[in-house]
Amino acid sequence: MQDVRHNVRELIRPSKEEWASLPRRRSGVRPTLLAWLLGLLTVGGAFVADRGWEETPLGWEESLLPVNVFGGMVTNTSILMVVLGWSLGRRLPFASAALLGTCAVAYASVGAASTTAWAAGAVLSAVLATAELVSSPPQLREIRELSARLRDGMTTVVGEKAFLAERRELALGWWVAFGLACVSAALWAWFAADWTTARATTPPSDRESFEPNEAVFALAATLLLAVFCGKAAHRWWVHRYARQFVWIVPGSGGPVWAQGLDPSYGGKLEPKESDAPGCTCDEETERRDPEYEESPVGYVLLDDYCAAHGIDTVNAMNHDAFRAIARSAWLWDESSRVPQTKDDVIASSTGLLAFAGHVFGGIPVKRDARGMDAVDPSVGKAEELKQSDQDIPAWNEPKFLPPTEQGILDTIDLAPAGLTGTAVRYRHGRAWLRTDGP
Ligand SMILES: [Zn+2]
Repeated sequence: MQDVRHNVRELIRPSKEEWASLPRRRSGVRPTLLAWLLGLLTVGGAFVADRGWEETPLGWEESLLPVNVFGGMVTNTSILMVVLGWSLGRRLPFASAALLGTCAVAYASVGAASTTAWAAGAVLSAVLATAELVSSPPQLREIRELSARLRDGMTTVVGEKAFLAERRELALGWWVAFGLACVSAALWAWFAADWTTARATTPPSDRESFEPNEAVFALAATLLLAVFCGKAAHRWWVHRYARQFVWIVPGSGGPVWAQGLDPSYGGKLEPKESDAPGCTCDEETERRDPEYEESPVGYVLLDDYCAAHGIDTVNAMNHDAFRAIARSAWLWDESSRVPQTKDDVIASSTGLLAFAGHVFGGIPVKRDARGMDAVDPSVGKAEELKQSDQDIPAWNEPKFLPPTEQGILDTIDLAPAGLTGTAVRYRHGRAWLRTDGP
């Protein structure tokens, strides 16, 4: 009994409008660019305020003082962040607020002229970080509210492959954090040994100052560690609530995207349909992709010359026979939509296990005999879509526009089958769906 309950998740079935109403985040380019420019201006401003070009190198004894060692470390890490901070993305404002704030304290303690510059940079970075913090809860709040409103007691059994994929995706963040913890520990140990050795050494004859470069990287790695731990902990917290649901996704248009999330395009075959007598689609799929075992989205590619699913078969059907199976994806061009009823949308939809917006896109699951499961344990989580993104990412957009009027064989009104739209059949291709809507 315990085992069964462990596999059961509640179904959340939003309408297309409700799914599309979930807010998307803005692109992260602007906050990243602002934080990066702010870091650059702060480091530059501090250099000017302290008249850095007149600075004479510290003597050996002076350079071993903790205030100079740590002051130099935070300053150089700030410079490193200006160079490499871009890669931190949305997390840059948090890292720079912490780092510039530490610099401000370090410079204030020696009464340096640049204290104001460091403090101003730290405060403005903190403002950016706060803006970033308040921009993400609305999405999570609306996801939570919608799931609370749509809970209706419907449940599904979720298969082991989906749970494996979920565990792997969640563990990824902690592995990165673990790796960074090891790197930081090693670099700090190196720095400690370096400093101890230097203090036991008599001043070198050329009077060069003590400059532990490894400390700069140690601090940067520790900062990254804090950022990644914060991210993983936040995800763990949000996931605790989200994991009890499977969202049935009514097509594209929501805040995340995954392969197979919008099943409404043609040009593919359900695996069970490839059992039809005379079907050569499996062979075609294997010919096109020799390493093919199972298509990642659970579909078989079509052979245009297949006796059961070829173009000639599509075009040889009389109108009634075509209407009767009009909802089969293999009749349609891979860039054409497939006519669907509302029930179809629910039955053929992909689900997202533990969907939590930008924090965790959810593991795509499909219906199977027992309930819902991922096609493969290696399937990745759904990707976040930003406000500026297309509903269907460019790399997966339909490749062709509908063909011209040339080559049309005939048109079939689908209304008698209870579907909206008209099928347009072509002599040398699969059918296209023509609707008044988009
Ligand atoms: Zn076939």
